[in-house]
This record gives sequence, C-alpha cells and structure tokens, in this order.
Amino acid sequence: MRAAQYYGKKDVRVEEIDDPPVGEGEVEISIAYAGICGTDRHEYVAGPILIPDAEPHPATGERLPVTLGHEVSGTVEAVGEGVTAVEPGDRVTVNPMLPCGECQYCLAGKHNVCVDLGFVGLSGGGGGFAERLVVDEDNAVPIPDDVSLKEASLVEPFSVGLHAVRHSPVRTGDSVAVFGTGPIGLTVIQAARAAGARRILVSEPQAGRREIAEEIGADVTLDPTEVDPVEEIRERTEDGVEVAFEVAGVDASFSQALRSTQHDGHLRVVSVYEDDVTFNPNEVVTVERTISGTNVYTGGPRSGEEYGMTLSMIESGAFDPSALITDLVDLDDVVAGFESLLSDDGQVKILVEP
Ligand SMILES: [Zn+2]
Ligand SMILES: [Zn+2]
Repeated sequence: MRAAQYYGKKDVRVEEIDDPPVGEGEVEISIAYAGICGTDRHEYVAGPILIPDAEPHPATGERLPVTLGHEVSGTVEAVGEGVTAVEPGDRVTVNPMLPCGECQYCLAGKHNVCVDLGFVGLSGGGGGFAERLVVDEDNAVPIPDDVSLKEASLVEPFSVGLHAVRHSPVRTGDSVAVFGTGPIGLTVIQAARAAGARRILVSEPQAGRREIAEEIGADVTLDPTEVDPVEEIRERTEDGVEVAFEVAGVDASFSQALRSTQHDGHLRVVSVYEDDVTFNPNEVVTVERTISGTNVYTGGPRSGEEYGMTLSMIESGAFDPSALITDLVDLDDVVAGFESLLSDDGQVKILVEP
C-alpha cells in the first residue's frame, strides 16, 4: 500500500510499503481522511522531535522511517480474532494514544501522562497518511451516523480542546482569553463557548486565523503586533479574564496570557514549546494566580471517553469541525500540503485523502 514515510527534517516520501498484518485484538481500517497536525508540521520543519530517531520508541519498538498521520477517520476493513467492539463496515475514528498500560499513571487511569506515552502516526505503529492502518481494538472509536468521515477526522484536535477546557476552572459567565488560534486554539474557543464562557477574547497575529476565530464565536480578536493584548483584555474585562489558554507556544504569549488573567486567575498551558519561556514569578505569587498544563485526552482502555464526548458535541452542533477545514490534498501530494501550511497564512486544517 502507499504511505507517507517520515525520514527526517523536510524529508517525507510517499512510497509503497507492506500491508500491515491484522493480529489478534486488532482492527484494520481503510483510511478516509487524515488531518495534518501542527505536530506533524513541526516534525517536518524541525524534526525529528517526538519521532524516534536513534532509539526505538518503547511503545512500538520502531524508529524512523515511520508513517505520519494521527488525526484519522475511516471504515473497518477487517478485524482480528477476539474483536467485539467493531465489525467490518463500521465507520471509526482513531484515538492514537499508545500508553504503556503498566506505569503508576496508567494504572491510575491517567494514560495521558504515561511515562512512555507514544502515538500512532508519530511513534511508529503505522499512521493515517496511508491507505490502511491497523490499530488495537481500544484505539478504534465508532462514529455516530450523523457525523461525517470528514468531521470525524477532526475528533483528535477537538478532544484536545475539550480536555483542556473540561479540566479547567471555566464556569458559566466567565470571560476567557485564548492566545494563538491555530487548529487547537480554535477548538479551545468552541469548547470554552460550550462550557458557558460569556466572553471570549483572542490574541492572534495572523489575519486569516483571526477571521476564522470570529466566525466560530470569538467576541474580540486582537492583533498582538498592533496592540498590547494584555492592556486591551484587562480594559475590556473586570481587570482581566478568569481563565486564559496559551495555545501559541512562544515566549511572549506565555507571559501575556498569564498577565491577561485577573488576580486569582488561571493560566492553562496547552502548547508544546520549542524553547524555554521567561516570566516574573511575582505575577503568580503576589496575586495568587495558578498555572496548569493539559495534555491530549483520555486514552488506552478509556479511548472512547473524551472521544465519545467530542463526537456527541459534533453531533449536537456544539462543535463545528468543518469551519477549520481549509484544504484537501491527495496522499501523493502530502508534501505540497506541508509546504502550503508553511507558506499560506490562510491554511488551518488540511486533510489528506489516500
Ligand atoms: Zn494532532
Ligand atoms: Zn504508562
């Protein structure tokens, strides 16, 4: 079958590889769509970062080249012995988390902070930029009839937004700030709105992304290259927001997001950072602010929990994945898709179709 294999920085090749065998407890999925994620883009530009290079990943025993793509939807093609949750013909999305299942965090049900956490499409174990993918039964989450395969390919990023807000202190009537409105920032906006945020204020330097943020429900969008977002947000709220989400992953926005919260406010860090950040701890200590982190969603045997919530939210219309999809490319053109994400400000989510 054809698959997009990651060999290293700016080196992704679409090539013919062996069809993955379907073992006991496993599910073979014929891929419909797979989204290019910010993480994939990061690996393409500056990797290998999370992709195992010198050492094989403990979750898969594999190192590069690996197949990319972890935001996946498709149809079950075949099932291995003992599989009961799905059958051939079922439409599914993939929860890509590969927790070890044995560490203290996995045993406590916190698979998203597993000591050896891996991901389908990054750590080996196949990926979505291919014709087919084989995963454990746990990883294949059935899609309700009213959710399309296109929408279902965005369940992964929407579950990141859902988890970030669900475990935050956002309450009905709060004001919320979102720094950075790439795909994940946009899912955070929709999740915060669904959680009852009264007012959502956004800081984002790219005009195209500010436009989409407004379309999906942001009340105020600010260009941090033109105005001071902290000053603007504090002025337009009661001395700041109750909760700010940092989804840009850069030094400046970390401190800005922190200072945009009220005294006793909360900064929720969603981004993965390439570099250290600088901030004055007095901004936390003297006004009793809190900083917390959030990582992906429930996984392993709990794969269907937050994925199921996200699917219901899409079904009810509370989440609108279609607003984020800006392009569709053939698997053979996946490299052009990566390049387009780098050069075109208007791109948010590009889907790859095998
Ligand atoms: Zn992703
Ligand atoms: Zn573990």
